Amino acid sequence: ADVAGLLLSRIRDVPDYPRPGIVFKDITPLLADPEAFSALTDELAAFCRRHGATKVVGLEARGFILAAPVAVRAGLGFVPVRKAGKLPGATLSQAYELEYGSAEIEIHAEDLTADDRVLVIDDVLATGGTAEASLRLIRRSGARVAGLAVLMELKFLDGRERVLPELDGAPYQAL
Ligand code: IMP
Repeated sequence: ADVAGLLLSRIRDVPDYPRPGIVFKDITPLLADPEAFSALTDELAAFCRRHGATKVVGLEARGFILAAPVAVRAGLGFVPVRKAGKLPGATLSQAYELEYGSAEIEIHAEDLTADDRVLVIDDVLATGGTAEASLRLIRRSGARVAGLAVLMELKFLDGRERVLPELDGAPYQAL
């Protein structure tokens, strides 16, 4: 079956959101469709198995929704990467540049070990800044990066070029 076609048909374009001139890719129709959500989960779980992942990292907030069922289906633990100030324990943090200003993300330091191979999941790769910072954070934890998978990439923003160096040869997939 054409899984990519099914997934694409369940993503809605919302013009002028969150600002005029931006076309937002809304994944809520996909999440509401059990066949599409399950097919997406299967694809991502297969990617985890294929590349020997030991942990699944999801990026706040929509990455959580995708990565948690993938972790369960693949029989792996789930680890959240959160926006700064949300995790209660000892964290590693990573700052990164946005179009205007900067942002910071964090992970619980004790959630990853040097033996882990981490598969990172998010919904949309846009400029690549969020994924790039997440990969850097995982490297700094001492764990290895097993790969990066996203539901959808906004090709015209060239985010792929930004994340490939940080992947250092690990696989990247945009479904
Ligand atoms: P980036 O850091 O510019 O690659 O932006 C990616 C982050 O912003 C991801 O965590 C996405 O969830 C979110 N994002 C950017 N554009 C969209 C969109 O059109 N739809 C849904 N999420 C988006």
